[in-house]
Amino acid sequence: LTSETYPGLARDAKYASLTADDVAYFKNLLGGEQAVIDGTTGGAEDDLKPFNEDWMHKYRGQGRLVLKPGSTEDVSQILKYCNDRKLAVVPQGGNTGLVGGSVPIFDEIIINMSRMNQIHSFDEVSGSLVLDAGCILEVADQYLAERGYIFPLDLGAKGSCHVGGTVATNAGGLRLLRYGSLHGNVLGMEAVLPDGTVMNDLCALRKNNTGYDLKQLFIGGEGTIGIITKLVIQCPQRSAAVNVAYFGLESYEKAQLAFREAKKQLGEILSAFELMDSRTQQIVHKIKGEERPLEGEHPFYCLIETSGSNGDHDYEKLEKFLEDVLTKEIVVDGVVAQGEGQAKALWSWRESITECIGHGGGVYKYDVSIPLAEMYSLVEDVKARMGEAGLIGETEEHPVSAVVGYGHMGDSNLHLNVAVRRYDAKVEEALEPFVYEWIEKRNGSISAEHGLGLAKKKYVQYSRNETVIGLMKQIKKLYDPNGIMNPYKYI
Ligand code: FAD
Repeated sequence: LTSETYPGLARDAKYASLTADDVAYFKNLLGGEQAVIDGTTGGAEDDLKPFNEDWMHKYRGQGRLVLKPGSTEDVSQILKYCNDRKLAVVPQGGNTGLVGGSVPIFDEIIINMSRMNQIHSFDEVSGSLVLDAGCILEVADQYLAERGYIFPLDLGAKGSCHVGGTVATNAGGLRLLRYGSLHGNVLGMEAVLPDGTVMNDLCALRKNNTGYDLKQLFIGGEGTIGIITKLVIQCPQRSAAVNVAYFGLESYEKAQLAFREAKKQLGEILSAFELMDSRTQQIVHKIKGEERPLEGEHPFYCLIETSGSNGDHDYEKLEKFLEDVLTKEIVVDGVVAQGEGQAKALWSWRESITECIGHGGGVYKYDVSIPLAEMYSLVEDVKARMGEAGLIGETEEHPVSAVVGYGHMGDSNLHLNVAVRRYDAKVEEALEPFVYEWIEKRNGSISAEHGLGLAKKKYVQYSRNETVIGLMKQIKKLYDPNGIMNPYKYI
């Protein structure tokens, strides 16, 4: 097999090809039509497509078999069999990943975790939640909401992504500023190693310094050393009062000043600080057709969320903050949401960008960390580069329709998106390695929260030195000596 989608990449002959006996083994193990999608004898294209293609329709594999285990024991038996037979596999959660890590490249077996979706227990005193990796993030968050708690992670794909998938990518999302990263919030984990060994480390304690913390290797490991099957998550109390403000600014410099003031004046109740440039808001408006929150056009917009225990006090604080930044001319215009409905509506101007930006064709996505002072300059430099190369414009002959920037400003995390009418080699050549070199020069990170997958496979060295990459390869070899886990990706 060679891949038309990925020229230059060839199937590794060390992996076995699926036989009828293999398929019979899996069918016998998992039973039931719902647990196996079999396209090994032809057909089943429509059934296989959602598992072979990623969310952006950019990465497409040639997988012929999807397995949906129903228990940790199933996962263990599947992996043990695949390891013995040298059959390559790709773990898959909600398939919302944005770096091509969740779909096969060639004929890897897709192990989809959607059937392992039970919530096992919740400790209402400590806030620790024990659940299966295949639980949908929003379902887990709703379960917690009914008990006065909140999942420490939130993101635009919450309706589809799995908790296990977010842990495997170490997703950052909208609440990181307040609750920190999954490296801190995952208390315990059960995972299955490629040889079928079950690593049960379902500890529910915040403090556990008994030697190496091995679960950390699976957080952000992107399914390259094993499959996460269960998790214990530390969940904070849901804040009684959540307030949201949205405002327009005349420059990126002013956005930085506003962030500084927000930290100073809102302190412990600040739970999100998001940045959007004007073009992102125009695109969301065009696609969704909803009325813009502010009159007039501003070069930048920020969204602030506060979460605290006293509604009136927090609202007052936020209003006072807005008044102050308006008086100091840091902000040009702003609005504070009146009630939950309006808060949701304001959030949608930030959360809908990822979806709306893809409507015109495709998107080249760069999710990067850059020291704040220079964060937005990347967007300006890329826009200028596209202009010089004659690639950007209003008409069909220009492949690029927009270069935009938005992201989690509170975490120095920018999403540079280059919206295209069609994917084009010339655009890619103009972007890469330019973007990565730009980031390296500023000691940034080429992957802030989306991971590496296939998209950034060639560029790891821009953010990690040889020694670190060497150690990663040793870990991969130790856990997965036959290399069956998610091959052809970043490691
Ligand atoms: P998948 O896409 O299925 O898989 C992702 C990776 O994890 C793959 O490498 C896969 O092999 C591996 N994997 C999946 N499940 C397991 C498992 N059980 N064990 C081992 N490996 C596994 N990301 C952010 O960080 N912040 C955001 O704000 C954000 N917003 C987003 C908004 C939208 C609209 C979309 C589409 C995506 C967004 N993302 C964001 C991307 C983010 O990576 C995913 O949404 C999420 O983390 C992936 O979860 P998933 O279950 O879909 O995993």
